[in-house]
Amino acid sequence: MKQKTFDIEYFLQTVAKAVKDKDVPVVDLIAVQTKDPFKVLVATILSARTKDEVTAKSSARLFKKAGNIHDLATLSEEEIAKLIYPVGFYKTKAKHLCKLKEALAQFDYRVPETIEELILLPGVGRKTANLVVSVAYQKPAICVDTHVHRIMNIWQYVKTDTPLKTEMALRDKLPQKHWITVNSILVAFGQSICRPISPHCDICPLDNNCVKNGVRPRKTGGKMTKNAGLKFISWNVNGIRAVEKKGFIDMLQAFDADIIGIQETKAQPDQLSQEIKEIAGYTSYWHSAERKGYSGVAFYTRLEPLEVHYGLGDEEFDSEGRVLTLEFENYYLINIYFPNAGEKLKRLDYKLRFDAKLLTFAQNLEQKKNVILCGDFNVAHKEIDLKNPKSNEKNAGFSPEERAWMDNFVEAGFVDTFRIFNQEPEQYTWWSYRFSARSKNIGWRIDYFCVNNKAKANVENATIRQDIMGSDHCPVELYYRP
Ligand code: SF4
Repeated sequence: MKQKTFDIEYFLQTVAKAVKDKDVPVVDLIAVQTKDPFKVLVATILSARTKDEVTAKSSARLFKKAGNIHDLATLSEEEIAKLIYPVGFYKTKAKHLCKLKEALAQFDYRVPETIEELILLPGVGRKTANLVVSVAYQKPAICVDTHVHRIMNIWQYVKTDTPLKTEMALRDKLPQKHWITVNSILVAFGQSICRPISPHCDICPLDNNCVKNGVRPRKTGGKMTKNAGLKFISWNVNGIRAVEKKGFIDMLQAFDADIIGIQETKAQPDQLSQEIKEIAGYTSYWHSAERKGYSGVAFYTRLEPLEVHYGLGDEEFDSEGRVLTLEFENYYLINIYFPNAGEKLKRLDYKLRFDAKLLTFAQNLEQKKNVILCGDFNVAHKEIDLKNPKSNEKNAGFSPEERAWMDNFVEAGFVDTFRIFNQEPEQYTWWSYRFSARSKNIGWRIDYFCVNNKAKANVENATIRQDIMGSDHCPVELYYRP
């Protein structure tokens, strides 16, 4: 149902209520904590193209050494760069901060209170200036970032094509009482519900009133009916923290999958950001290695499992965080990061012990209900599954022993779903980072969705998503009707 008259009060109040428990944007937080325009200005400069938690940590490190403009001026550009790393464009920001004292001299070393004066400072654009005026000085100013610009246009409250035009349009029509708060409300809303890719209209309190201008509808995240087709994704991300910086959250939302299995998270739960653990619409489960920065698997699921099983029940393998299983009414979904046999096959014995244990584990589950296995198997099964089979016959991932286990796995009744639909060569899921292997498609197919023989009839399609970048592996997909 579309609204006849747009009621901005209702929209902003509803959104404010929906995000009241979300994290306060870091710049607002610093303003509340310090009420110091210098710190708000610096934190705002640091926050551009940077995640809030990174800005918070980098600001804290810098303020410990330099809590005011005079102390900041004693630091060299290199020292500042070191303190603020890893904020986005830290070298450029260090250069700007280094010149700040000189620029502030004309204002008697005080942070100016007007947008016109603020934009004279190095590294300060209109967005930063508006934020400093509104947050540090609590004066009417509208900070229009991509979220404010995007959401105001989705609502058709404004019809503009640039953030600057949005700011001007809002100055004309948005009641002044909202100017200061609109940015933090819409940033929190844009990060959690009205996300840039596939907004969560399914959980949005404005769903019935929003015209959704330019929004591509997404599938609902509600409870799936028993026979609804499901979409699963499996992806070795080669480090969840690395891929987070490459836009993982937006990629995951764009997959619009019911369950996503991740391998090689290389992180323990306390090393993960809140944002990555709590992606809107999904519950996440993590099984990490004891050794930091190594191995690890995780699930994001829209469907509530009956149970979650961690590991294989064997300390030798479970300490490496390699197996995580979700149990549903009609099936198990096992997410696996198989060991790599290593250079000169040094870890082949370990891998073969793992392989055997995993097969027994899957066969035991199969006695109860259907089994889907996904993950990085770290083995190309047949010659068609890698570019250079001959030269890799003695290498990890294509050794006779590993391939024999895969034969054994197939003989035990497990089906490589991709090959049900596609018999073509050069269908790879992993490419070395070296020698431009991906652009030349010199790769291996070592990531799979497999099912037990009985579940084969439930498989609707299986594909490889070579279009998705961000890791040395690409995701694989399974469409499954339970
Ligand atoms: S209904 Fe959808 S498009 Fe509209 S505000 Fe909510 S999430 Fe955004």
